[in-house]
Amino acid sequence: MKTHNLGYPRMGSHRQLKRACERYWAGRITNDELQSTARTLRHQHWQLQQEAGIDLIPSNDFSFYDQVLDMTLAVGAVPERYAPLQGREEITDLDLYFAMARGYQRDDLDITAMEMTKWFDTNYHFIVPEFQRDQTFQLTSTKILDEFNEAQAMGIVTKPVIIGPVTYLWLGKEKEGDFHRVELLDRLLPVYHQILKSLVEAGAVYVQLDEPCLANNLSERERQALQVAYQSFQQKFPQLKIILANYFDCYGDNLSTALSLPVHTLHLDLVRCPSQLDDILDSGKLPEKTTLSLGVVDGRNIWKNDYEQSLQPIRQTTNRIGTERVMIAPSCSLLHAPADLNSESGTSKISSIRPWLAFAKQKLTEVVTLSQLAQIEDRTQQPAYQENQRAIQTRRDSPLVHRTEVQQRMATVTEADAQRQSPFAHRKVQQQSLNLPQFPTTTIGSFPQTKEVRQQRAKFKKNEITEEQYLSFLHQETERAIRWQEDVGLDVLVHGEFERNDMVEHFGEQLEGFAFTELGWVQSYGSRCVKPPIIYGDVLRPTPMTVEWTTYAQSLTPRLVKGMLTGPVTILQWSFVRDDQPRATTCTQIALAIRDEVTDLEQAGIRVIQVDEPALREGLPLHQADWGEYLRWAVQTFRLATSSVSDETQIHTHMCYSEFNDIIESIAALDADVITIECSRSQMELLDTFADFQYPNDIGPGVYDIHSPRVPSETEIVQLLEKAQAVLPASQLWVNPDCGLKTRGWNETKHALEAMVSAAQQLRQSISEPV
Ligand code: GLN
Ligand code: ZN
Repeated sequence: MKTHNLGYPRMGSHRQLKRACERYWAGRITNDELQSTARTLRHQHWQLQQEAGIDLIPSNDFSFYDQVLDMTLAVGAVPERYAPLQGREEITDLDLYFAMARGYQRDDLDITAMEMTKWFDTNYHFIVPEFQRDQTFQLTSTKILDEFNEAQAMGIVTKPVIIGPVTYLWLGKEKEGDFHRVELLDRLLPVYHQILKSLVEAGAVYVQLDEPCLANNLSERERQALQVAYQSFQQKFPQLKIILANYFDCYGDNLSTALSLPVHTLHLDLVRCPSQLDDILDSGKLPEKTTLSLGVVDGRNIWKNDYEQSLQPIRQTTNRIGTERVMIAPSCSLLHAPADLNSESGTSKISSIRPWLAFAKQKLTEVVTLSQLAQIEDRTQQPAYQENQRAIQTRRDSPLVHRTEVQQRMATVTEADAQRQSPFAHRKVQQQSLNLPQFPTTTIGSFPQTKEVRQQRAKFKKNEITEEQYLSFLHQETERAIRWQEDVGLDVLVHGEFERNDMVEHFGEQLEGFAFTELGWVQSYGSRCVKPPIIYGDVLRPTPMTVEWTTYAQSLTPRLVKGMLTGPVTILQWSFVRDDQPRATTCTQIALAIRDEVTDLEQAGIRVIQVDEPALREGLPLHQADWGEYLRWAVQTFRLATSSVSDETQIHTHMCYSEFNDIIESIAALDADVITIECSRSQMELLDTFADFQYPNDIGPGVYDIHSPRVPSETEIVQLLEKAQAVLPASQLWVNPDCGLKTRGWNETKHALEAMVSAAQQLRQSISEPV
């Protein structure tokens, strides 16, 4: 029974790769120095996997930016616009690569970056391949072979990990011409053949081809493409042992396709989809020689594996097909888990839950131990097993996890709790008491987090300034923001969020049931990493979280100040969550905590409250068949969080980063009085969705892109709003930027918001005196 790993986090336990890349971009280290950091990390990671006892160790899981972009370079799918960079002597391949990832603005060139989007349902972002009708492919990078050789020089014959051809095409976008990207397969395959040939010649025995497109709804054409690709690999390389890896969900409707592909091993994500094992074993379609790779160790979470639970499917499989045809693995690449629990210091805030956790490095040991335990009779006598089961048992019974008061409260929740007092039409009349003009103006919550704000926070954390000093600084910033907004002439003000570093962490830190790591970083995109909180127990809000800052801001001005909260789905989505109860249950607990905050804000005199849900759409399951169930509880938890208030209190929500067409019905079901959405980049096209649906409540389509320092003109904003007015009644429209302003500078923000306020005034006039 072999063990293998699908991929290891590449950043290094202290984010060494991030630092090296960023220093290289800033021109502070050379290409050689960057390469040397990268090599050191690869060697460390191979070595620690070898020491853990993993049989098949991955290579080519390393990347300077993103594995999909690596593939784009490998097959030479470099978009036209980078041509000026190619063939220039001073621009290395690495510079071209980074230019594709990040854009290139130097000399007289200004080339935009390639688009980035989420890797399936993870928070990892990949660089989207761009294809043209006349697209050609040619082998242009030797990275895959180089890394194989590099490991071999250390005495390790790795298993190269390569994105499969169909998934590679599937993830891309047709940029020009009328065609379907899967049609490009015939042209792409020869490059894959070249890559595989070079690996076989170098001595590769196994190769892992990742085809997670299989966890999605595929068309017949796409299934056919898989057949073509894998038949060709089998024909050309009959000796090569191909591990076909699908993860993040079931094979689902694609199961019989997967079973018919001529591969050596089929990998199953048994964490996300345990039921597929029975389907496969009972299908009678598993080819006689195919090996099953059982992904029993969760690659996307931080919990210690429950050995007894994992050994069941392993035993079940070995009983049916024998030990030789079984491999043990993590459910997916460990890229999505933090690197090493041992990097957490003794004073880490996770110390009380530490025995329950396993990060990437610890997961390797779990994989190996499981394969050993599966092959001995008396596992219960083994110390590793006993220790594991003790930890699992303590977690199961721990009072840190189970809080009676939360359980009791959960039991009393009724349907009515998720229902505002009156329907929107009635509330809208009641909310006229807010005295807002037509086209009311507002912002999304945060104002520039300047260097000074971040410095003061860092100093406070390091005890270099007192709490009193820090708070007085924050008060000063908040007051400045209020005066500033009054000057600009906004209608609904915000306090500015200067006290927050992150919209989830800020709430997690004040809630019970959450823990924070010191170094639990996970790559989000390029050099950017996030440190998700760990939700380990029943969620409880011991005291109000935002009331002080909001009421302080409100006390400074006669204008309305909007309370600012993060919604339950977003908090859930951006955390490591409990695996001992359904996500919906955890989300409901968070919703109750937010609900209490909403209630307290209202009681403290705050009349407008925003509950942000930017992550609502990204929580959608991969299989469309599962969408309904998710959306049902996602909507319900939002409503539970926001429905305690009276009709006069106005609830806002905010969403960004996504297309909403698919889920417009659910957005309407949130029943927020106002939704502000990211819209400006798609030039209000999104509004058609809202118009077609006859979305009933108020909408603030973002009128300018806050992701760029560019200041929009008043005319531009007026034009956008006119577009909006053409499809939606003016009485429904709000005027606001498309997201929070924390990444912007004050100066550009001032000009932009002034233009926005003038645009709103211009529209008000044109409505009151029609021509
Ligand atoms: N209120 C948050 C802010 O303004 C919303 C952030 C977001 O949408 N991601 O920063
Ligand atoms: Zn946003």
